[in-house]
Order: sequence, then structure tokens, then C-alpha cells
Amino acid sequence: MQADRSNSSRQQGPVRNQSKNPQRKKQDQVHKAISASSTGLMSYAQVICYNCGDPCHHKDKCEKPKSCIICKMVTHVVDDCPVRKKAHTSARYVGSAAQGLGFYHLDVPDVNAQHHGALKNVGIVLIESGEVTKQELAEEFADIYKTNWPWPINALDDWTFLVKFPPEIDVAHVAGYPCFGLKKDNVIVNVEVWKGNVAAEDDLQDVWLKIRKMNPKWCEWTMLDQITSTLGVLLDVDWQHNFKSFYETVRVKISCKDPTKIPTERLFGIKGKIYRLLIEIEPALPYAETVIVTNPSLDQCWEYRLSGTYRSTHDKG
Ligand SMILES: [Zn+2]
Ligand SMILES: [Zn+2]
Repeated sequence: MQADRSNSSRQQGPVRNQSKNPQRKKQDQVHKAISASSTGLMSYAQVICYNCGDPCHHKDKCEKPKSCIICKMVTHVVDDCPVRKKAHTSARYVGSAAQGLGFYHLDVPDVNAQHHGALKNVGIVLIESGEVTKQELAEEFADIYKTNWPWPINALDDWTFLVKFPPEIDVAHVAGYPCFGLKKDNVIVNVEVWKGNVAAEDDLQDVWLKIRKMNPKWCEWTMLDQITSTLGVLLDVDWQHNFKSFYETVRVKISCKDPTKIPTERLFGIKGKIYRLLIEIEPALPYAETVIVTNPSLDQCWEYRLSGTYRSTHDKG
């Protein structure tokens, strides 16, 4: 399948180059506009409902409760939205402690995106072979289903499209079919129900760390949140461990871009003084592997179980 794709894109190369010619480009646009109108496709932007997010009706004709498109509350309209009038917020840059650790962290707001009609009944269309543009795909669907529907499409990449299906066609039903061919030669597509995810560049990794040389009186969440923000995003604090070691080691879990880049120590300024905190990453062990490790500094024996979790052998029984 992969070979097919690279092959066909290579064959299409010269055609794309021709499109760079302005005259040719204009002809393409005119052609597209004509073919779109001939199949009854409308511009998505012209018919979107700014209340519920569905296409095909204006917000004045919307049957759903009128809600604010920014915060989803039904008590005011968008022009009066208090969220819009708030001071701007910023993405927090975390992982400044070393090269390769940094990223902008975004908190996901507590607004239920599913309230937004635009994200319901969405299919993910995978082009299994051949090549098709967004416009061609919309025309093919309009032709197959013969509905008065603008077929909103988001091209995630050349082979993956998010397609909003009309309310009367359940995308789960369409997804039940095996791959099918389009009118355009050699194009085979597969439709799945979109589960709300798009491809990420990479996963963040969760790791447990031990921090040493911390003043016990600063071992609380907001201080640990600030300290760990230099490495990633704080997820959890092992309070039991911290009480037990009497804060000699402070055990925290963070979400991190690359644990191998975490430095062994960093300086922190607290109340007019500089402190050097030591950082140690806990080894992530493969599932079900059990290793007994003696930690001489604590004079305790730890039993490591699973990835990143452990308990003192003293806890047994
Ligand atoms: Zn509506
Ligand atoms: Zn609002």
C-alpha cells in the first residue's frame, strides 16, 4: 500500500508543477468552482450554523438551545461572553532545564467539545490506493448519497480526510462497509468512525523522579509544580514516600518530552538564596519484571514492580 502511494505521488509530480503556472492555476480554480456548483456542493463557511456548528442552516433557524460558541453557556450570546473579555492567557513553556526537554504546555479547558454539533457524526476517510483531492472527495460523496449536504472535509494529510456526514447518514453504518472504490480510477477508500484523535508527532513520557536536597518545608504541590516545570509537567506526588523518607528524597511523577535529557542537578533561587537540587530518574522496568535493589543511603530495600511503580519490602504483609 505504501509503495502504491509513493508511486502515484511521483507520477503526479509533473502535473503539480504545471499548476504553478498562474494561468493554469486560474483555470483549475474556475474548473473546480464549476464542478462544485454542478454537484450542488456549497461553501461550508456560507452555511455553517454559528449556534450548533452544523452546516445547512443559519443560526437564526437553529432548533437547538442558543448557546455561546466560546464557552457553551446558554445564559448569554457570544458578544457578551465573559471568557472573551478576560485577559489573554499564555501557553506555559516547560522543560527549560536542558536542550531537548522543552515544549509549550496547554491545559485543556473544561468545555465539552461534544456539545458542538460540528464534531458529531464525523468519519475518517483513508485513501487506501490512488490519489484524490478534497474537492473530488466531496463530489464523490455528493454523488453517492444524493443529499443536499455541503460535505465539510478537513484534509489531515494527502491520504486522510475528516468528513462530516449529514445527520440522516450514520457514519457508524458507513464504517461497517469494507473498502470501496470511487468513480475516479484506481481510488479505493475506507471509512471509519472518527474517535476524536489526530496523529501526534510523538508521545510525552511519564516518569517518576526523585529530588534530593529539598527543604522539607517546601515540599508542597505548588513548589514541586514550579520545580518540575523546568523538566516537564507535574502529574503526581508520592506523599507516602515523601513522609517515609522525611523528604530526604521527594518522589514526583512528571510528563516529559525526553527523560534521557533530564539533568542530574539544577540551581533554584528561593527567598534570596541559591539551592542546588539533585534529580534522579527512576528506571522504567519492563512489565512484570521484579528486581530487588538495595538503597544504601536509605538503608532500605525496595522492590521494583512494573514500569515506574515500586513499594518498600517493609510494606509487605
Ligand atoms: Zn444550528
Ligand atoms: Zn460565553
